[in-house]
Amino acid sequence: MDTDFDITIIGAGVIGLAVAAEVSRLRQEVCVVERHETFGMETSSRNSEVVHSGIYYPQDTLKANLCVHGKTMLYELCGKYDLPHKKLGKLIVASRSDEVQELERLKENGERNGVSDLILISRQEMARLEPNVAGVAALFSPSTGIIDSHSLMRHYERRARENDTVFSYNAEVRGLSKEPEGYRIEIRQEKETYSFQSRAIINCAGLESDHIASLAGMDIDKENYRIHFSKGEYFRVIRQPETRVNHLIYPVPQSDSGWLGVHITLDLQEQMKLGPSAESVDAIDYTVNSAHQKLFYAAAKKYLPRLAYADIQPDMAGIRPKLAKEEEGFRDFIIRNETDKELPGFINLIGIESPGLTCSPAIAAYVADILRSVF
Ligand SMILES: Cc1cc2nc3c(=O)[nH]c(=O)nc-3n(C[C@H](O)[C@H](O)[C@H](O)COP(=O)(O)OP(=O)(O)OC[C@H]3O[C@@H](n4cnc5c(N)ncnc54)[C@H](O)[C@@H]3O)c2cc1C
Repeated sequence: MDTDFDITIIGAGVIGLAVAAEVSRLRQEVCVVERHETFGMETSSRNSEVVHSGIYYPQDTLKANLCVHGKTMLYELCGKYDLPHKKLGKLIVASRSDEVQELERLKENGERNGVSDLILISRQEMARLEPNVAGVAALFSPSTGIIDSHSLMRHYERRARENDTVFSYNAEVRGLSKEPEGYRIEIRQEKETYSFQSRAIINCAGLESDHIASLAGMDIDKENYRIHFSKGEYFRVIRQPETRVNHLIYPVPQSDSGWLGVHITLDLQEQMKLGPSAESVDAIDYTVNSAHQKLFYAAAKKYLPRLAYADIQPDMAGIRPKLAKEEEGFRDFIIRNETDKELPGFINLIGIESPGLTCSPAIAAYVADILRSVF
C-alpha cells in the first residue's frame, strides 16, 4: 500500500511512547508526532508517579483491568531494565470509625479486580508502621509503589527508536482527513506546513485528544468524548521528624467522582508532597494558587496531626483530561478503533487520566491487539 507510514501516533506522553514501543514491534512503519520539542512535556511529567494497585475502579472496566495488569508489567519492566522505582506500599487511612466500612468495601472491590494482597490493619498496627499518622484503622496495599516517570518514558522512546520509529518533535497536528488508503495528516512544524499519509492513526493527544477526534470529523458532544480539565495542585512538605512517613498515605475517598482526596506522596528522592487537589478549570494554567495552602493544610492535618502550617509550600500542578463532568461519577477510558464511525484504523485514546501512567504498558498491549485486526 502506498502510504508514507503504516501507523502514526499523535502525542509523545507516556501513553504515545508506550504504544510506540509496543506497536513498532509489529514490523510496521511507525511515526510519532509531538508538538513540543521533546517527549513528556505535559501531564506525564505532572503527576504523582504512583504505581497504583487497582483498588478503586469498578470491576470489569478498562481502568481496573489495565491497572492491575499494567502494575505487574511495569514492575517487570523496572526489574528487567533497571528503571528507578520503589514498592513503598500505601495506607488508606480511616480517620473516623464510620469510615472503616468504606475500607472494607474498598478491600472487597480491590479483590474483585484481582488485587490479592490487601490487608485491613488496626490502629495499633498502623501506629507501628506510621507513628506520625493518626487514624482508627487502615487498608494496607503493599504492591503500590512509585516510579521515575521520566526514566520510564525515556525507556519507551529508546525501545521505539530501536524498532526504527520516526519521532517528529515540534510538529503539531493541525488537520486530519480520510483518504481511500488511510488518512492525510497536516502538520505545522517550525513555521512550515506539510502533510503525509498514514494507514492508521492512534490518538494519544492527552488533554487535546477530543480536539484530535474532532479534526477527524467526529462530533465529540454526540459521542460524549468531550474532555473536561480538572486541575490538581501539589504542596511540598518540608520534612520534619514529626511529619515523616514511610508509605504513601491516602484518606478514604469522599465521593465516587474518581478523586482520591489530598494524599501524601513520596518521590524517589524522599521528597514529600500533598496533593493533588481537584478543581474544574477551563484553561491550561499550571500555577499553584498559594491561597489554597489553608485547604491543603486542613486536609492533611486530619491524618498528620503534628503538621505545622509553615511546613507546606506551593509546588506544582497537573491537569487531568476527564471525560466525566463534575459530579457525573465514574467514566472509563475510551480506547477504540472507530470503524463503526466510518473511520477504520482511527484509534482514539480519550480520557486517559489516572491511573494512566500505571496502565501504560497494558494500554500499549491492548492497542497492539486492536491494530492486529487492522493490518
Ligand atoms: C495531577 C495528576 C496526578 C496523577 N497521578 C498519577 C499517578 O500517580 N499514577 C498514575 O498511574 N497516573 C497518574 N496520573 C495520570 C497520568 O499522568 C496520565 O494518565 C498520563 O500521563 C497520560 O499520558 P498521555 O500520554 O495520555 O498524556 P500527555 O502526557 O498529556 O501527552 C499527550 C501529548 O500529546 C501532545 N499533543 C497534544 N495535541 C497535539 C497535537 N495537535 N499535535 C501533536 N502533539 C499533540 C501533547 O503535547 C502531549 O505531549 C495523574 C494525572 C494527573 C493530572
